[in-house]
Amino acid sequence: SKMDGRGKWRFFEPAMDANVQSRRALEVDLREALEKDEFALFYQPIYDLRKDRISGFEALLRWQHPKRGMVPPDQFIPLAEEIGLITALGEWVLNRACEQASSWPNELKVAVNVSPTQFRDASLANVIANALDRSALAPHRLELEITESVLLGNSTETIATLHELKARGLRIALDDFGTGYSSLSYLRSFPFDKIKIDQSFVRDATATKGSKLIVRAITSLGRSLGMTTTAEGVETVEQLNQMKAEGCNEAQGFLFSRPVPATELAITILSLRNG
Ligand code: C2E
Ligand code: CA
Ligand code: CA
Ligand code: CA
Repeated sequence: SKMDGRGKWRFFEPAMDANVQSRRALEVDLREALEKDEFALFYQPIYDLRKDRISGFEALLRWQHPKRGMVPPDQFIPLAEEIGLITALGEWVLNRACEQASSWPNELKVAVNVSPTQFRDASLANVIANALDRSALAPHRLELEITESVLLGNSTETIATLHELKARGLRIALDDFGTGYSSLSYLRSFPFDKIKIDQSFVRDATATKGSKLIVRAITSLGRSLGMTTTAEGVETVEQLNQMKAEGCNEAQGFLFSRPVPATELAITILSLRNG
């Protein structure tokens, strides 16, 4: 390193690529973010189309950096996975989500996203048990959202962990369904409680026949397998009507509400109750 013009030390090589530099800087900030309490959970309602009411909320992680502002999860979660930070971060998310959900009305569930890397950690089942114990949240109110990549390679340990969690009463949802490579075979490897239809199909379903038929196929598949189907990314009334017509059980999206801070949950519940 050497002094720059303003007498500050520069720790990077001048030849270093600008992308690498900004990535390193993000990594440094990310490593400190937990201690500095810069994370928060936002919540997006999941709407039960039959009962015509909110069935729960999905917890979505937010990083509020003092200088960078709100860093979207797509920008820091892959990095957190790469640098091995996702285990600690995921534990924080589970604890916070259970703690916050324990103060909600009993009929409301909380859905938490769990990354493939967290599943590779043998302590995941314990981390979840601790979060439930500490918060006294009933296990059936906690739903884990996993993607197909968790099941990639069909690891017997992962399947065993999923069965163990299900036996304890937790619900398991398959997220982003339809975007992977061999979706159907994953439905055979584990009895999911819920399939979340990826928003790319929902978005196109009113315009493209192919997407509409895919949504139809997924809901009918879910029905025959006894799994709930949830349409993600519903933004318009047209899309909502389409999803209802195809027999989706639940819907989630900006049409109902954007993800909101925990302090705004009560008002979100009220506004959806009154239409
Ligand atoms: P996801 O699990 O598929 O979450 C849904 C994403 O779609 C969220 O983005 C949500 O804000 C967005 N969304 C919801 N409704 C609509 C809509 O009507 N239109 C559009 N255009 N978007 C909608 P977000 O919050 O930016 O999260 C992105 C991804 O980051 C999530 O996708 C999930 O994979 C990951 N993520 C978020 N929180 C966590 C977490 O706590 N742990 C882990 N491992 N991953 C997380
Ligand atoms: Ca999700
Ligand atoms: Ca999703
Ligand atoms: Ca996604």
